[in-house]
Amino acid sequence: MLEVESAVPEAVVRVRFAPSPTGYPHLGNIRTALFNWAFARHNNGVFILRIEDTDVARLVEGAADVILDSLRWLGLDWDEGPYFQSQRLELYHKAVDQLLKQELAYRCYCSPQRLESMRQEQMKRKQPPGYDRHCRNLTREQKAEMEASGIIPVVRFMSPLEGQTFFNDLLRGQIIFENSTLDDFVILKSDGYPTYHLANIVDDHEMAISHVLRADEWLSSAPRHVLLYQAMGWQPPLFAHLPMILGTDRSKLGKRHGATAINEYQEQGYLPEAMFNFLVLLGWALDDKTEILTRDEIVKHFSLERISKTAAVFNKDKLDWMNGVYLRGLGLEEFVQRAMPFLGRDLPVEISRPLDTGYISQFMPLVQERARTLAEVPQLSDFFFVEELEYDADLLLGKIDKAEAVKGLQASIARVDGLQDWTATSLETVFRPLAEELGLKTGVFFGLLRVAVTGRTAAPPLFQTMEVLGRERCIKRLKSAIDKLER
Ligand code: GLU
Repeated sequence: MLEVESAVPEAVVRVRFAPSPTGYPHLGNIRTALFNWAFARHNNGVFILRIEDTDVARLVEGAADVILDSLRWLGLDWDEGPYFQSQRLELYHKAVDQLLKQELAYRCYCSPQRLESMRQEQMKRKQPPGYDRHCRNLTREQKAEMEASGIIPVVRFMSPLEGQTFFNDLLRGQIIFENSTLDDFVILKSDGYPTYHLANIVDDHEMAISHVLRADEWLSSAPRHVLLYQAMGWQPPLFAHLPMILGTDRSKLGKRHGATAINEYQEQGYLPEAMFNFLVLLGWALDDKTEILTRDEIVKHFSLERISKTAAVFNKDKLDWMNGVYLRGLGLEEFVQRAMPFLGRDLPVEISRPLDTGYISQFMPLVQERARTLAEVPQLSDFFFVEELEYDADLLLGKIDKAEAVKGLQASIARVDGLQDWTATSLETVFRPLAEELGLKTGVFFGLLRVAVTGRTAAPPLFQTMEVLGRERCIKRLKSAIDKLER
């Protein structure tokens, strides 16, 4: 028997990320992009990038490029776009004309001064803010008079005065808004650009968007959008308003929580794959325990059902931890390759470039164990490069006095000068008994040596470090530590 294919084609998932280039994208923006991307990829759908650049006054130069770069950095590849709303004005004008013709929108000639005094008045009377619909019922003559005066009007949507607007949010269920709370919002500004509300619904319709997954802050705009869809005679997409992201103090996420623009995370040495993993867990989870997930696993399992209904909490310590996990998961060569730009950028200028990858690879395993970000790599390893260490002589005198320290350093030089093979193991077999001979605790003695050869109290394992630094450099550093003490 022939198998009959289902007559109903599977609904196509088409989603979009629609940022406004009014600033550099922050964590929340990119989390939205990621959820849309993952939802599209999971469903073999289409991910569209649309730049909502109609608020000309608030445009930030270069922001759109940074948005694109951030998406590329995280591997959030888009299938269509980027579309720029500023290049699609005709479409919005067409929609506005239709609404005007159907008398579902009207021209408003109110001056900014009038609107301002209206606002003041409303505040004084403790009334909710909103346009008082002054121009909604102008007579034909009044309209003609206004037109003749040369005032360039805005166009406002004629919101219903009563009744309710409802829609089903895929995450929050039935949402009901009282129409009386909606004012006659502007859909076309006097500069000829549409407002967000209008451009957004026209494009979601034109681009056949199936699901709108966006930040929770847009929930209050949704009833306006639903009314606009109804007025245009269009079927609205399905909505899902994503949970908020809060700081660990449970207030709205901001800079003070250590959350910055995404490109800054890149500069601070976070890996895109760690960032990706971290971001998806801000409001989505596979189960109640899995933290580390690959891209493929995320795509495989991503679903709206697993998006949390409560706010997500941004925890910078968790990000640092996760980044460390990803850093340690890299092969040595890969780690070196990723760290190189950071070494080039942050190592002191007097260290000559290009840096020697062969030498670097010798100590990178030690650094890889410890770094939480790539930007920490130069900090953790600069003593491998510099000729002269700069540190305060007092650092050498943790728990011993000057005479003991000098004696210890001199004895160390004498012991290692003729050491046959310069390896971590043989260095250890020299220094352990030496501590005892000197009557010093190993911790104290090794601490002294560590400062002498690295210039710091916390560094990778001492003997492995000394092995990489080499005999000559170590002896030179031990000598200069004595000089420092005797100076
Ligand atoms: N341009 C809006 C933003 O910046 C888009 C909101 C939406 O997805 O509808 O987030």
